[in-house]
Amino acid sequence: MRQGTNLPRVGGYNQAVVLDAIRTAGPVSRVELAPLTGLTSQTVSNVVRRLLDAGLVSESGYAPSSGGKRRTLLSPRPDGAYAVGVQLDPDAAVVVVVDLAGEVLASRRVALPDGAQPADIVPRVAGAAQRLTAKAQVDPARLLGTGIAAPGPIDGPAGEVVSPPNFTGWGRVPLRAMFETATGMPVAMDNDATAAAIGERWIGGRARAGSFLFLYLGTGVGAGVVLNNTVLHGDSGNAGEFGHIAVDAEGLPCDCGGTNCVGPYVSPAGVIGDLLRRHGAEAAGRIGVSGAADAVHRDWKALRQAARGGDTAAHDVVRRAGRRFGQAARGAVALLDVSRIVLGGESVRGIEPILCEEIDAAVNATCVARSIRRIDVEKSVIGDAVGAVGAASLILHGNYAPGWRMLTQA
Ligand SMILES: [Zn+2]
Repeated sequence: MRQGTNLPRVGGYNQAVVLDAIRTAGPVSRVELAPLTGLTSQTVSNVVRRLLDAGLVSESGYAPSSGGKRRTLLSPRPDGAYAVGVQLDPDAAVVVVVDLAGEVLASRRVALPDGAQPADIVPRVAGAAQRLTAKAQVDPARLLGTGIAAPGPIDGPAGEVVSPPNFTGWGRVPLRAMFETATGMPVAMDNDATAAAIGERWIGGRARAGSFLFLYLGTGVGAGVVLNNTVLHGDSGNAGEFGHIAVDAEGLPCDCGGTNCVGPYVSPAGVIGDLLRRHGAEAAGRIGVSGAADAVHRDWKALRQAARGGDTAAHDVVRRAGRRFGQAARGAVALLDVSRIVLGGESVRGIEPILCEEIDAAVNATCVARSIRRIDVEKSVIGDAVGAVGAASLILHGNYAPGWRMLTQA
């Protein structure tokens, strides 16, 4: 748990520390909050009063009596704040409206035409978001903004995506500024894997406190890194480019120009290619995989279903992908010293058990790892929509998670 400070002029920061503690440990009493936050009971009392006044927490009952005065319990108020989240993929944008508790109030998948350009996409998605917040009957005064989970690479400080693979004709696109203009609201943007990790941290409560590596599989693969409750961005906002970790590979070319990156072996298109190479057209036909360039979404769904249903060819290629995932993950956890790996993203649906098993075997295989600590490998607590919910969490987390920015900005 992050420690607060009793110095003056850090009210906003302490408010965030206390709200974070209530969200993570709640329902919780004022007496318990003091040791959890490192604040004096007088400061806790003052901060809680401000959070109650702001409508961000509520008094939600009493702790069981242990003699003496009963302690009032505090819980976060779901209707205290809202945010819109947008997960942008080449074929669709998933838009969600999320409350302060992380509950999805409404969601919509906006199909995007092949080769669509930013100038078409942004107004279309912003319009869908506006209709969705109206449908969810969100109090506009409590709507904090829109978060965008964008495919990497990004220029984080500038709020731009930079020639993302799979988006034909996109160069350097000032996506954050474009959405700010289209929505008239504050906009936060991060790469999809980092947004997913922030969502997992924000919503996962105690289960996602501390440090973890989030492995994200969408159209491509990426990772989000949370160390001691702090999200790692790196200097340019591209920390966690897991897809370009080198593995013992067979020479498949990667978008980056490399020939031993893990990405081409574990991405949906890569695994579909592996099925065709290893098991041929007959297996692909049986499973319902066409191999066509524009059918990756459909093919991948069929392949996952077949793998889950026990088809040996489908199971084989998914397991191979899991092994490569594991090989790259082993290097990452050796560097980061995290005791948890979380797997998520819409492309892992149904095959999490196979992938988690292989990753688990790889990262817990060596005696060094075993003698210090076991690494838990788990699927996302959010599920399919982790990218979009993560995007909304960028806004909630940015406003309410205790961070240095609160102390350094006026
Ligand atoms: Zn690469």
